[in-house]
Amino acid sequence: MFDLIIRNANLPDGRQGLDIGLAGGRIAAIEKSIAATAGEEIDASGRLVSPPFCDPHFHMDATLSLGMPRMNVSGTLLEGIGLWGELRPLLTKEALVERALRYCDLAVSQGLLYIRSHVDTSDPRLVTAEALLEVKEKVAPYINLQLVAFPQDGYYRAPDGIASLERALDMGVDIVGGIPHFERTMEDGARSVEALCRVAADRGLPVDMHCDETDDPMSRHIETLAAQTVRFGLQGRVAGSHLTSMHSMDNYYVSKLIPLMAEAEINVIPNPLINIMLQGRHDTYPKRRGMTRVRELMAAGLNVSFGHDCVMDPWYSMGSGDMLEVAHMAIHVAQMAGIEDKHKIFDAITVNSAKTMGLEGYGLEVGCKADLIVLQAADVIEALRLKANRLFVIKSGKVISRTAPRISELFLGGRPASIDIGSDYVPSAPGR
Ligand SMILES: [Zn+2]
Repeated sequence: MFDLIIRNANLPDGRQGLDIGLAGGRIAAIEKSIAATAGEEIDASGRLVSPPFCDPHFHMDATLSLGMPRMNVSGTLLEGIGLWGELRPLLTKEALVERALRYCDLAVSQGLLYIRSHVDTSDPRLVTAEALLEVKEKVAPYINLQLVAFPQDGYYRAPDGIASLERALDMGVDIVGGIPHFERTMEDGARSVEALCRVAADRGLPVDMHCDETDDPMSRHIETLAAQTVRFGLQGRVAGSHLTSMHSMDNYYVSKLIPLMAEAEINVIPNPLINIMLQGRHDTYPKRRGMTRVRELMAAGLNVSFGHDCVMDPWYSMGSGDMLEVAHMAIHVAQMAGIEDKHKIFDAITVNSAKTMGLEGYGLEVGCKADLIVLQAADVIEALRLKANRLFVIKSGKVISRTAPRISELFLGGRPASIDIGSDYVPSAPGR
């Protein structure tokens, strides 16, 4: 009756010791002890089973290009954009596909099965869009990949910005992007937001803009984005990525802005690893963190999800396709280390991201898709602390990746012979 049963699982919401039965690509049962047997069984042994991770903000055309053609010396966003501009004319479709597929292999091993990637449309050759549309089809059996038409060099500022973005959408790219803070003037930025929201409304597509990725407290394109979202009736279908200027904005102004964003049901996508690395670069000390106001936005009821943004590319030399690493950084930068806080942070890389991406059948309830991960951690709190090992990654009821548990042998005479890095030493305090 079942294709696969996971025994003795702990769930992200705190339920413990449950069996999960998968059949026909869906979750068919979640019960204390499923009497039936299945072709394959996994003993979770009281470990956390979660829906897979979702990354709502990535750049798959740039990933794994570190060092091509050179390294980013200043470490700034602007040098990164310049460096990408040097690399772009050298890109070939074959090399783009090969790098993206290699990243997707890594993503699967990390339990990351849903990715929204921006695709740079600035080069009118559009090899980036061609390549990632091919990748999207190739990885569809194991990764749900959404693509955003992203005018990296500016919708108005790049010579072919407008036409190239339209052509990418004609080719089948799913979402309308933008970068208002990189247009030549604040006015051009605001006009680009309006024009791109109109394109999305006309084509019936969602919007996901790089918005206010700057330390400038006067960069206020998110206000325009919220207003145009309401004007064009796009509520709930628009994402504001980064929003780092909100970190530096005047508090009174933010008290007006956040309700406007809530009215427009803006999906907020901070990118903690990249924000902490790139923002505040022009500061001496004190040095701003630069990430947007996560706690306040969540408290106002906005849907906040975290993106990985970059892995080994012109902007970020680090990264490992690990959304728990992203969440771990978010806990630190947002200073959200309480028990409730950590649950909210875990939601931001799972259910909130799924909402941002509009995923159907995502979750851990009967009837949801049989896409699950088993982690080497007892619960959400431990998974975040340890960036826990992904023991099993399951897609449509089938194991597509497996990693051996991390158990260290000890040779200490009089001390235990081994230690499970998750559970063997922790205090019993709640929310340990
Ligand atoms: Zn980005």
